[in-house]
Amino acid sequence: MSFLRLYLRVLVLLGSEARLAITLAAANIALAVSQFIEPVLFGHIIDRLSGTLPASAGAAAQVLAPLLGVWVGFGLFIIVAAALVAWFADRLSHRRRNMVITDYFEHVLQLPLAFHAAAHSGRQVKVMLAGTDTLWWLWLQFFREYFAAFAFILVLLPTSLVLNWRLASPLLVLCMAFSALTVLVMHKAFGMQQAVERHYSELAETAADALGNVALVQSYARVEREVSGLKSIVDSLLRAQLPVLSWWAAATVMTRAGTTLTLLVILVFGTYLKLIGLASVGQIVSFMSMAALLISRLEQAVSFANRLFLDAPKLNDFFGVLDTVPALRDRPDAIDPGRVRGRVEFKNASLSYDGKRAAVKDLSFTAQPGDTVALVGPTGAGKSTALALLHRAFDPQSGSITIDGIDIRDFKLTALRHNIGVVFQETLLFNRSIAENLRVGKPDASEEEMRAAAMRAQALDFVERNQDGFEAPIGERGRLLSGGERQRLAIARALLKDPPILILDEATSALDPITEARLDLALDEVMKGRTTFVIAHRLATIRSATRILVFQHGRIVETGTFDELQRRGGFFTELVRAQFARVAAE
Ligand code: ADP
Repeated sequence: MSFLRLYLRVLVLLGSEARLAITLAAANIALAVSQFIEPVLFGHIIDRLSGTLPASAGAAAQVLAPLLGVWVGFGLFIIVAAALVAWFADRLSHRRRNMVITDYFEHVLQLPLAFHAAAHSGRQVKVMLAGTDTLWWLWLQFFREYFAAFAFILVLLPTSLVLNWRLASPLLVLCMAFSALTVLVMHKAFGMQQAVERHYSELAETAADALGNVALVQSYARVEREVSGLKSIVDSLLRAQLPVLSWWAAATVMTRAGTTLTLLVILVFGTYLKLIGLASVGQIVSFMSMAALLISRLEQAVSFANRLFLDAPKLNDFFGVLDTVPALRDRPDAIDPGRVRGRVEFKNASLSYDGKRAAVKDLSFTAQPGDTVALVGPTGAGKSTALALLHRAFDPQSGSITIDGIDIRDFKLTALRHNIGVVFQETLLFNRSIAENLRVGKPDASEEEMRAAAMRAQALDFVERNQDGFEAPIGERGRLLSGGERQRLAIARALLKDPPILILDEATSALDPITEARLDLALDEVMKGRTTFVIAHRLATIRSATRILVFQHGRIVETGTFDELQRRGGFFTELVRAQFARVAAE
């Protein structure tokens, strides 16, 4: 995104606060004008003092009093106005930041899983925080300080030219030199800063990844390696950052030299103009103090430009995420049919992730309400993709899927997902209490309902063993629980949700016999009375399924009950023999 468009967008994001922002901008201009009046007044006072004053002190005071009164008045006005501007700018920027952060969070949560798979959560948190902090800072500083600085420069230049164009010309040259230098440095360092930001994102991602896997880091004695990995990123970051800093340092040195030179020129040139009668002492004093003010504003403007430039990559990343379109949206006429019966039909559904190779091809099958359909096949055969289509993680590129005869694309997305429960192989749990995790399934579940679900899922004993019961925290990703407990908690959550359709990704990991037996009981409970699709890894599940779909290279190559498929002696028999050789031997 171009620099100008980027910052135009920052202003557009002010949204509902636009009116206050415009008022603040106008107040900034008023402030700039009144600040400019001060040195002019000062010059007049000097001229009066150096001219012929009345002999008596009283008469002299009468001449000076109005000027002094106006000066004090302006001084007070500036103080009050600046305080008000700062007060409102503070509130404006904080309010907007909170709004933007909430909108951004909602947007990111709706982005396709493919987006999340490609971008680490650590990086996303960094983009969110860095982006919103930048916006907050820009709004705050722009309306509190920098817009006034720009307005001051814009007011001062033409007015000073009108007052005495000869004395004003060094100021004009100074402004042009500042602008040219800033543009040059920004141009030189722009690409470099983009690289710096990439290193920062990498840093956030790496740190979050290591922290998220701290048990692994410690158990594999990887602390040193992880630290050295991080250090090498920090080193690259510094290497990328230093040239940018050098450019800005050079610019600062040059502008400082320029300002000293300008003051000197005004003094010497002013004295010459006074000698030939083209300037008064008061004008020289006015221009000296205007130059001092101008220089401080120019320095502010340059440091703001510097900051705009340093922040541009952060904003680019931030807007990049905001511009990512959620893959799936409700159709305008999407419906909420309430609770479905659970008849699921796939009709020639195909999907390719990369547009070249099909992940699933021509899937056609029907499941009646209450059926248990087992999906089996080698890794990468397309089982997860098939079920991802059912809960619309993706839409098929051709073919369709219906539930109770309604195309799932005609459902409101939330209505569809209320009807489908998913128990993931890798149990996903919030870093919250057991109760809060259970209520993900049913937000208004009572303690009694939670207790009943936990009992059916074989999870009640470990809940009750804990002093805090349902209020006990379970740690990040449920780290405070064992693997088996996590799975049973996830099953209890699905039981509370009580969806007519269930997607189950069985754990592949071997469990100890007691845990496995308890998990079997929990799974039997959760599958009861609903259409269940299970990516099956256990012989028991496959045996008891109403129907088995055998996947190979994205297609369903065989289908039937366990006995039918075994009798056929095809790919399924081979698969079972390979996968369950140990069980068979026993
Ligand atoms: P299974 O569940 O049978 O192991 P998957 O449905 O996960 O198989 O994978 C089917 C194919 O699609 C595989 O080749 C896999 O690499 C690919 N695949 C799965 N998920 C994605 C994804 N999010 N992006 C790109 N390719 C994917």
